[in-house]
Amino acid sequence: SKRAGSHGCVVHDPSLTDPRADDALLSDDLDHALDRGELHVLYQPIVTLADARPVAAEALLRWQHPTRGRIPPDRFIPIAERSGAIARIGLWVLAEAAAQPFPASVNISPRQLREPTVVHDILAVLHRTGRDPRDLILEITESAIVDGEAVIDALRSLRTHGIRIAIDDFGTGYSSLQYLTRLPVDILKIDRSFVAELNGTPGGAAVTEAIIHLAGALTLTTVAEGIETAAQAAELQSLGCDKGQGYLYAEPLPAADVARTFVGSAAE
Ligand code: C2E
Ligand code: CA
Ligand code: CA
Ligand code: CA
Repeated sequence: SKRAGSHGCVVHDPSLTDPRADDALLSDDLDHALDRGELHVLYQPIVTLADARPVAAEALLRWQHPTRGRIPPDRFIPIAERSGAIARIGLWVLAEAAAQPFPASVNISPRQLREPTVVHDILAVLHRTGRDPRDLILEITESAIVDGEAVIDALRSLRTHGIRIAIDDFGTGYSSLQYLTRLPVDILKIDRSFVAELNGTPGGAAVTEAIIHLAGALTLTTVAEGIETAAQAAELQSLGCDKGQGYLYAEPLPAADVARTFVGSAAE
């Protein structure tokens, strides 16, 4: 049998050998993370490209794990999706964001959007916090939207209350463009992989340019993600992109820091 050495104990850690076992461990931890205060939300300003004025901020979830330290959302959000924990966590993020004194853009996962009570739950949070629905943007991926008629009905209903709908990571999905014309959508977020191609090389702007033209034809607003250089910002602006976010302007920040940047500038 195993004998505890001078360090006290011998623990076989399945996470070291099996990634799925590690998912299961994280999933258990995530069940308690909210109640133990390990989750918090940072906010990344979204600005007008014309004058870098903040108009909203995207809520981005963070998990400070007690023993492992910071775990990135790309790691734990898919786990929360599979376990279903995302429904409760997502509503908590929404409530946090709705409590801030600036318009917020909140990521809604496909699983959350399929909850039969999603419309009621989102409106209840706005009601409880006394927020104007026009100050809320919901970010949804293409894959969630093409999920079916129930999801489209939910979005339509949310939109009649004044909530705006953004398609996140636009251009990275595999869905047909046809769906765009019949969808309740207000904003296209240009994925940062396309913004990264804006480096002055011929053809580098092709996809971004096509998305902006498409948005114009459908009278949708465009927001470019992951803007890191002034050259990218200038090129996006000359292509007709409306708004942007990225490290050039600000990284995700605590709410209080973002709130300060809105002082004196009217919300849009
Ligand atoms: P996303 O919605 O596409 O969010 C944008 C990601 O790009 C964020 O990563 C942000 O920190 C990062 N970013 C911002 N500016 C720049 C830049 O200039 N350069 C680069 N390279 N990256 C930039 P983050 O915070 O790690 O979030 C990753 C993903 O996790 C998000 O991608 C989103 O899909 C998901 N996520 C985050 N918070 C939530 C949430 O509350 N609910 C749900 N369902 N998903 C969330
Ligand atoms: Ca997003
Ligand atoms: Ca995105
Ligand atoms: Ca993304």
